[in-house]
Amino acid sequence: MTIEREQLEADVLIVGAGPAGLGCALRLAQLIDEHNKTGKTPALSTENIYVLEKARELGAHQLSGAVMDPRGLRELLPGFETSAPAGTLDTPVTDDAAYFFTRNVALKFPITPPPLKNHGNYVISLSKLVKWLGGLVENTGVNLFTQFAGASLIHEGDAVAGVITEDKGVDKQGKPKDNFTPGYELRAKVTVLAEGPRGSLTKQLMEKHKLGGLNPMVYSLGIKELWDVPEGRIAPGFVAHTMGWPMSSDMYGGGWIYGMRENRVSLGLVVGLEYHNPQFDPHEAMQKYKTHPFVRRIIAGGKMVRYGAKSFPAGGWYSMPRNFVDGALLIGDSGGFLNAQKLKGVGMGIKSGMLAAETIYDALCAGDASAKQLSSFQQRVEKSWIKKELWACRNFHQSFEHGFWLGMMHTGLQMFTGGRGLFDPWRVGPGHQRYHPLDGAERITARFKGDGALTFDRLTDVYHSGTRHEEDQPCHLVVAEPDICAGRCTHEFGNPCQFFCPAAVYEMVEEKGQRRLKINASNCVHCKTCDIMDPYQIINWVVPEGGGGPNYEGM
Ligand SMILES: Cc1cc2nc3c(=O)[nH]c(=O)nc-3n(C[C@H](O)[C@H](O)[C@H](O)COP(=O)(O)OP(=O)(O)OC[C@H]3O[C@@H](n4cnc5c(N)ncnc54)[C@H](O)[C@@H]3O)c2cc1C
Repeated sequence: MTIEREQLEADVLIVGAGPAGLGCALRLAQLIDEHNKTGKTPALSTENIYVLEKARELGAHQLSGAVMDPRGLRELLPGFETSAPAGTLDTPVTDDAAYFFTRNVALKFPITPPPLKNHGNYVISLSKLVKWLGGLVENTGVNLFTQFAGASLIHEGDAVAGVITEDKGVDKQGKPKDNFTPGYELRAKVTVLAEGPRGSLTKQLMEKHKLGGLNPMVYSLGIKELWDVPEGRIAPGFVAHTMGWPMSSDMYGGGWIYGMRENRVSLGLVVGLEYHNPQFDPHEAMQKYKTHPFVRRIIAGGKMVRYGAKSFPAGGWYSMPRNFVDGALLIGDSGGFLNAQKLKGVGMGIKSGMLAAETIYDALCAGDASAKQLSSFQQRVEKSWIKKELWACRNFHQSFEHGFWLGMMHTGLQMFTGGRGLFDPWRVGPGHQRYHPLDGAERITARFKGDGALTFDRLTDVYHSGTRHEEDQPCHLVVAEPDICAGRCTHEFGNPCQFFCPAAVYEMVEEKGQRRLKINASNCVHCKTCDIMDPYQIINWVVPEGGGGPNYEGM
């Protein structure tokens, strides 16, 4: 079927309204305002900037710890401390600590390791921050569309020329329903991909232009719960990071517990998506984490109010893709702008957006959006604090390749050698290649149920993520070769998708004596773990109808 699409022309199209996309839009609007005030040519207008966001409202797909290093925001909005609406910056960090957990004991580090020191930072609600920034962007005249997803890239030759948004009103079989509305063809001089981790358009672009860095990007998955706890359990602004249990020593990961105002606690577990055991269940590990006496003491008797899961890029400087091509830039998590050692990407995402905006402004003035012109983005990054920060931990994540203890030793060495350590650059492969086959190992069939008070099964947690999708639409988790699931994958790895998905999307079921993969796509919280961790790379996460997905209010 050929579909007639409405065409819209813009100067700049930004896909993704997270900290990076909104930082880019706001900085560009500031530059255009200064440009027009001084009467420079060509005349530029903020109305020619479009921002697309797949969530049903601004901030609904934002999930982070979230302790923010305010550097990026301060550069974008000097004096933000007084202008941010109440509750956006929940509380300044008042104290920080690091612990090593064994099953029953929490051993406090005598001093907090420098990357985990958080004085001067803020505990925030990222979704509230994004809502606020989005409002500021809209006030400048920029067109911001929520519930619209970029589904495919438009190319003119090798150059990116815009994006086609998803078709709305298509049924499960791919047929148009009564409310069918074709996606728009949004053409732009510069397209900015700010889709967060493992963006679906970013993936298309990276494959087409072979943009990968020295190392492939590796990711971690963060599973988070927000709790309201009885008074006096944790001071607002107290920030704790934990290592050790429930992660085994051959894995990368750890936990966080952040005290917020009004007896609210952000807690969660980060799991490096390169573990060996294909039956490892990150959601179950997070539930066990809460049973540690240290954590239990804080949350017991409280109430879980929100749940979420999301991946983030953890590879660092050597995994960053080339961030510019003809007509397009990659920013924020999509471009790998995250300091995994500090677990900080909000401020860096904003800063990458600002540098992209300055690059785009020059391109619009020059009437040239070629890769050569846009390559000044990379030069700007190299001259900024982003490079300084990422260079100092360029071998950090890789050094955990052989387990926690060797990783800690290498990290210590890297801190004394400006990030160099023993091997520089430290090369690693993608996470999905590091599974060990099951061979004779016992196959897990019983799944974690939880006690319903402190710990929960996955469906209860998904309920608390506010996730909702239109049921009658094509499955947005596209499995290229389903035969592999019931055959090779069952035999070799025991279907890891049943275990790694923190939202119970994937199930292996028996029907009429046949084993097959059942996909509960409407549970999907858009964490992208399946796209990252499927051992055969046959799962492709594509955008569902705009407006679907989690609702991370207050996260
Ligand atoms: C569990 C966890 C804990 C973290 N803790 C911290 C922390 O404490 N401090 C910190 O600084 N950082 C933290 N981070 C990292 C931080 O959240 C990210 O680095 C930051 O949000 C990146 O911003 P971004 O704008 O690049 O991406 P995102 O915030 O992911 O925003 C991308 C947006 O694009 C939208 N989108 C994606 N694809 C499309 C499409 N095709 N069409 C339309 N819209 C699309 C998404 O819905 C989303 O709203 C954490 C991350 C995780 C997962």
